[in-house]
Amino acid sequence: MKNYSINTKCVQGGYTPGNGEPRQIPIYQSTTFKYNTSEDMGKLFDLEASGYFYSRLQNPTNDLVAAKITELEGGTAGMLTSSGQAANFFALFNICEAGSHIVASSSIYGGTFNLISVTMKKMGIDVTFVDPDCTEDELNAAFKENTKVVFGESIANPALTVLDIEKFANAAHAHGVPLVVDNTFPTPVNLRPLEWGADIVTHSTTKYMDGHGSAVGGAIIDGGKFDWMAHADKFPGLCTPDDSYHGITYAEKFGKEGAFITKCTAQLMRDFGCTQSPQSAFILNLGLESLHVRMPRHVENGQAVAEFLEAHDKVAYVNYPSLPSNKYYEIAKKYMPNGGCGVVSFELKGGRAAAEKFMKALKLAAIETHVADARTCCLNPATSTHRQMNDEQLRAAGVPAGLIRISCGLEDKNDLIADIAQALEAI
Ligand SMILES: *Cc1c(COP(=O)(O)O)cnc(C)c1O
Repeated sequence: MKNYSINTKCVQGGYTPGNGEPRQIPIYQSTTFKYNTSEDMGKLFDLEASGYFYSRLQNPTNDLVAAKITELEGGTAGMLTSSGQAANFFALFNICEAGSHIVASSSIYGGTFNLISVTMKKMGIDVTFVDPDCTEDELNAAFKENTKVVFGESIANPALTVLDIEKFANAAHAHGVPLVVDNTFPTPVNLRPLEWGADIVTHSTTKYMDGHGSAVGGAIIDGGKFDWMAHADKFPGLCTPDDSYHGITYAEKFGKEGAFITKCTAQLMRDFGCTQSPQSAFILNLGLESLHVRMPRHVENGQAVAEFLEAHDKVAYVNYPSLPSNKYYEIAKKYMPNGGCGVVSFELKGGRAAAEKFMKALKLAAIETHVADARTCCLNPATSTHRQMNDEQLRAAGVPAGLIRISCGLEDKNDLIADIAQALEAI
């Protein structure tokens, strides 16, 4: 599939059936796999041969879908996980251990912020958060002797900040560490971070990749370019023998292209077991088959809704990177010339009271915490996800009480705008 466009890879990537084989990816709903001799199976355990023995580690359905996402991102190896949370945890913990330090953008998904700042901290891993808009000097100043990885989101959920991937990649590489980018919102259809210097890409496939609100899942893709052995002292987990796995040195045996994902599967999937079910992987693949058709429509609807809101006198401001008024307009154009995603946020002039009336009046847009679904969904953080905060605290956190997040689905944009217009009328 290498020479085909991303559109074709969405449809046919990852799986090419042989003569008389199923046209669609088979669901291997089996926990285990059968062998004729113990020697055959022993070779799998020694990572001497590739194959399947237990679905906690690897499953053929999952591997076919991971192979498709790997092709879409332009990576060399990939794996599915049970959720986006698991993908980000594995991607970071595959590099870090107690005593390590992470440099991360402060503008990231709340779940990931908590994972890094609270849970991984308890594991002895430290973090310095940096403003994604910081200068190169400020970014470089965040690094320490024990920094092992840099992390950011290509388009942050829900702040919609756009990461300057080249700036972050250059700083990471100058300090001999890789850059991990969570590329959930733009998807590889609109942005491929590996092409801009990122080393590893993660996804919550729960969002646009599945796209139908059907299956929770995650993915990790390795670009295969980071030279672990060139900085062997920083990455003992990849560059020294793994006593828990027959003394294998991953970076030696599997090279730049395969070391990261092999270690992540052999160690972290073995020990934590955050496996995606083959059923969910099958559903994810159905979503991927139309990702290149859906993303442009999400973008078209997001742009139309953002422009309508910006011109409305009850709206204080609109946050959407592809609006010329947006702070990230130029950088969004550079990294995502075809647009980013369908998520738009805006603040109502009337604050909390206006937001309550607006939300109540919506007919098409459903109230959900979810985003990136085929069906438009809407959230007022002040009355839902952030309801423990008062108005003052909300403003300080950048989510004022009148802030609305709308994830534009695949409906007709005129119907969406009409729904929003009548809800604004109700204020
Ligand atoms: C939703 C989300 C996650 C977490 O993914 P889950 O599949 O819900 O575990 C991580 N990163 C981003 C950017 C997200 O939007």
